[in-house]
Amino acid sequence: MLLMKTFRPGDEEVLRTALQEAILQGEEHSLHDFVRKLQWLVEAWPERGMLELLTEAFHHQPCSFCREMLFTIHAEHSDLSSELILEASLDRNMELRGAAEVHLGPATSLDGI
Ligand SMILES: [Zn+2]
Repeated sequence: MLLMKTFRPGDEEVLRTALQEAILQGEEHSLHDFVRKLQWLVEAWPERGMLELLTEAFHHQPCSFCREMLFTIHAEHSDLSSELILEASLDRNMELRGAAEVHLGPATSLDGI
């Protein structure tokens, strides 16, 4: 992926447009690959704008294993929004649920509902 070497802050706007197109096409395989490449880019370039884009991409990643890795990246960069934590806590991936529940405060915990 060319951007791996040439990425500059601001490139996330081009990537956001590409993400929207991949979402609209609704092809799970290409959406999986695209979000996974976004993940690699963020690992190389953990810029604020890229982390935001990755948060937007999270629930469009059809692969629960990859969603778990995305969650880990956000946790490593102290970039877990309450929405992301809540969504992850309801994931069908039990490992991801467990990771998210660690970050759920008592006020947002779904225990006891
Ligand atoms: Zn995957």
